[in-house]
Amino acid sequence: MRDSETLLIPGPVSVGAEVLAALSRPVSAHYGDDWVVMYRRLTSSLARIFGTEGDVLPLFGPGTAALEACLASTLAQGDEVLVATNGLFGRRIAEVARRLNLAVHTITTEGYDPVRPQHLAQAMRDHPGVRAFAVVHHETSLGLLNPVQELCTMARRYGLLTIVDAVASLGGVPLEMDAWGIDLCVGVANKCLGAPVGVAPVAVGERAWAAVDDSRQKQAGWYLNLATWRRFDREWGAWHPSPTTMPTNSVVALAVAVEGVMARGLDAHHARFAQAAARVRDGLRELDFEMVIPEEHASPMTTAVWGRKGMDVPDYLEWMRSERHLRLGSALGDLAGRAFRVGHMGRAADPDVQDAYLRGTADYVALKL
Ligand SMILES: *Cc1c(COP(=O)(O)O)cnc(C)c1O
Repeated sequence: MRDSETLLIPGPVSVGAEVLAALSRPVSAHYGDDWVVMYRRLTSSLARIFGTEGDVLPLFGPGTAALEACLASTLAQGDEVLVATNGLFGRRIAEVARRLNLAVHTITTEGYDPVRPQHLAQAMRDHPGVRAFAVVHHETSLGLLNPVQELCTMARRYGLLTIVDAVASLGGVPLEMDAWGIDLCVGVANKCLGAPVGVAPVAVGERAWAAVDDSRQKQAGWYLNLATWRRFDREWGAWHPSPTTMPTNSVVALAVAVEGVMARGLDAHHARFAQAAARVRDGLRELDFEMVIPEEHASPMTTAVWGRKGMDVPDYLEWMRSERHLRLGSALGDLAGRAFRVGHMGRAADPDVQDAYLRGTADYVALKL
């Protein structure tokens, strides 16, 4: 472990000093008057970031746990679910769904393309019995944005329940859960919101609650069951809004980070990522690197970059780490060894970090290529 390493990976992300300070406060209880005031303020700010009038439940766990809770709380054994799997995190959702004994159909795309409405329309012709549609907004394995607005609006017209993995996009790009027809939406504290790992907020709309409440036997147990979280929020909400002990320091640090986002303004917060991405991409192009994903559907939070001809990508990543204390992301799947990923979230959105990164890369190129 290196103390001073700065993370330019697409998660986890290095957080700012104010947020770190909140983490070092004495541990507080996850109940009581002061807690509830902070908690309500946090969940209502998060609801604004999700773009919803619905409920926000800050689950304690990784983003994957929250996604599992969404599938398991609303779907019954054998239900058909359509999952957009044009990247590692889409395939992860399909895997979770299979483990829950759901009947999974997938949509894949050619190359590194987003999933488009025509793919959804074709899948619905092939599988008319589908009940739910799940899609990743920012597919972090590629740095690609799927057009969730078009996809979920269309899925709604088919009467599907829509589940969006916004783990790496919540707070990073515009997201309008209610207006876009999203029924369940999952984020995490540590990516675009710049807070510590530990909390995975889930936003739940009315149609999702109707699915939770219909008479069919769902796959969820107790903890990863949205009905449990709602029960505590409603019945114990005046003093103990969560079903279990919470990582109070992580929740308080998330509240500090979210306050910062709201004070800065959501648009200005989004603009930081876009500026960081543009700067890094321009700098890399000047050094003759090419981006994997075309600009029109590239995400501003992560950039996947092809290694230059003859370049030893693992050596570059190791050199940046040992010589410059900057940790970059390796590429996944069939990009492994041929490309690398640069995250623009957390401290990586700060210009001093981008300068250090581009300088380091220029030095590496001069030295080794
Ligand atoms: C990081 C990430 C996840 C996984 O989050 P965990 O907290 O590790 O479970 C899921 N989906 C996307 C799009 C991600 O970027």
